[in-house]
Amino acid sequence: MEFAILSDAFDKMESTRKRLELTQFLVELFEKTPNEVISKIVYLLQGKIRPDFEGIELGVAEKLAIRAISKSSGIPIKKINEIYQREGDLGHAASIILEQKTQTTFMVEDITVERVYETLLKIANLEGMRSQDMKMKYISSLLNDASPIEGKFILKILLGTLRLGVAENTVMDALAITFTKNKENRKFLQHAYNVSSDLGKVAEKISIEGIRGIKEFEIILFNPIRPMLADRIKSEEEAVIKFGKEFAAEYKLDGERVQIHIEGDKIVLFSRSLENISSYYPDIIEKIPKVIQAENVILEAEAVAINENTGEFLPFQELMHRRRKYKIEKAVTQYPITINFFDILFCNGNSCLEMNYKERRKKLEKIVKENEFAKHIPMIIVKNENDITEFLENSINEGSEGLMLKMLDKPYQAGSRGSHWLKLKREYQNELGDSLDLVVIGGYFGKGRRTGNYGTLLLATYDEDEDTFTSICKVGTGFTDESLDQLYQILNSKVTIKKNPRIDTEMEADVWFEPELVIEVVASEITISPIHKAAKNKIRKDTGLALRFPKFTGKIRIEKTVENASTNEEIITLYQGQKKVAHNKSLM
Ligand code: AMP
Repeated sequence: MEFAILSDAFDKMESTRKRLELTQFLVELFEKTPNEVISKIVYLLQGKIRPDFEGIELGVAEKLAIRAISKSSGIPIKKINEIYQREGDLGHAASIILEQKTQTTFMVEDITVERVYETLLKIANLEGMRSQDMKMKYISSLLNDASPIEGKFILKILLGTLRLGVAENTVMDALAITFTKNKENRKFLQHAYNVSSDLGKVAEKISIEGIRGIKEFEIILFNPIRPMLADRIKSEEEAVIKFGKEFAAEYKLDGERVQIHIEGDKIVLFSRSLENISSYYPDIIEKIPKVIQAENVILEAEAVAINENTGEFLPFQELMHRRRKYKIEKAVTQYPITINFFDILFCNGNSCLEMNYKERRKKLEKIVKENEFAKHIPMIIVKNENDITEFLENSINEGSEGLMLKMLDKPYQAGSRGSHWLKLKREYQNELGDSLDLVVIGGYFGKGRRTGNYGTLLLATYDEDEDTFTSICKVGTGFTDESLDQLYQILNSKVTIKKNPRIDTEMEADVWFEPELVIEVVASEITISPIHKAAKNKIRKDTGLALRFPKFTGKIRIEKTVENASTNEEIITLYQGQKKVAHNKSLM
């Protein structure tokens, strides 16, 4: 197919932003497009050469493009820069330069879409020392044979500045009209796109097999499925109103969503935005195939950073340490994770999308064997607001963000923010106004860089009524190497064989200390806790209070006696103040 047909269509499309007109131009273009070229056209008109998840980028810098224009036109770089400055767009500048050239020379051969496409693909795949020179050669050879308008669009694609404003939906409308004469069929195309994330492939399928091929379109292993999303709700009450009698509640973990595709030894991980993120998680790649009992499978899970000593979930930010190209092994040991499975989309060659939630969860539990690293996301069936509140509090206390609520009898809706999943987050994430002075009562030995030190400490408030030290949190963040050393020196003289009877906790610890040392911490929130003893039974029967995301400030309060530490009365006041703030906020 002649590239001129495509560049003429691009030219028309550039002149409008109206969706109906764009659709019409696309229909005219698709009608002229042979089946074997349509996928390429669909990528190119979105300024791509392959679907996003393949991560292929052209990555041509302006400087290089200018050199290529100079080489093919014989015009000096300085002059090209001047025209570029004047026009403000390098593609446009190139078309002016090529215009001058075509008046003096003959074009050698027509260029085809196939040739442009293959050349772009080669450019994208070039690596290494001489790649810049090679890229320049490829570009200038295309420009040699290009008409001004073709040159303009070749450069725009190369530089990533082709912005025709055609949304995926518009492309699908045009495909439906061209190949079925009925725009309503868009919904079938949408489904095919949702399960493959590859619009080029969808276009090829409909052009060759018609609507029947699209209706039978199946999941392709190692093509990411566009994820199902959740609606936000504000309260437990809203959930019950929307979902009625009985539904699933899962922890909403604060990590990274990972779609895992596995077949035999091959495993690929995709992010929520369908980027291939396999290289950031060598631990998942290594450990997950061993726990899967299926020939091939597509699973969804949340990768969550954990405190290795306590198993507690850490916030999402901790995963950012893994976003590096080199020394990823170090990040893997320093910032360990667990992988928490919540859905199964494909198994042993068959789609699971049509199965309802209950069936999928059952299958998931059968296919994925749990161990230290791989878990099923905590889930219960809830029936009323109280059930939700209780599970929400547990989830928050363990470091999760809130709950995902899911209807039991509904399928997986790829690519849509349906109303079958709801998310309920704890809204008041206000920082506590004050820092707290807490008593160190227990310690846990550190791992990795913290070997030989206490990596995490168990802390307590002072209960004036009982004259006891009631546990309120573990703290494992905010320490520097020096402060860990210093604390180790101080605490070593306070180790006791038996827990001091004034310590009131149900937590276990590697070592117990005489309650003699006070340190300062800050936290994001005080939450209800079934495990800690601070202010137990004061807010609610059988529950105490705990700190969420506590962090050592660096201050060892050696000047303070333990009886001067923060008391349970103070904690209760802070907790109630925090609730008022949340309440007022919700009224605003
Ligand atoms: P949001 O990004 O606010 O729409 O929330 C959805 C995100 O929550 C997903 O993309 C996942 O990363 C994350 N998530 C955490 N736990 C779950 C869960 N149990 N089910 C589904 N998504 C979860």
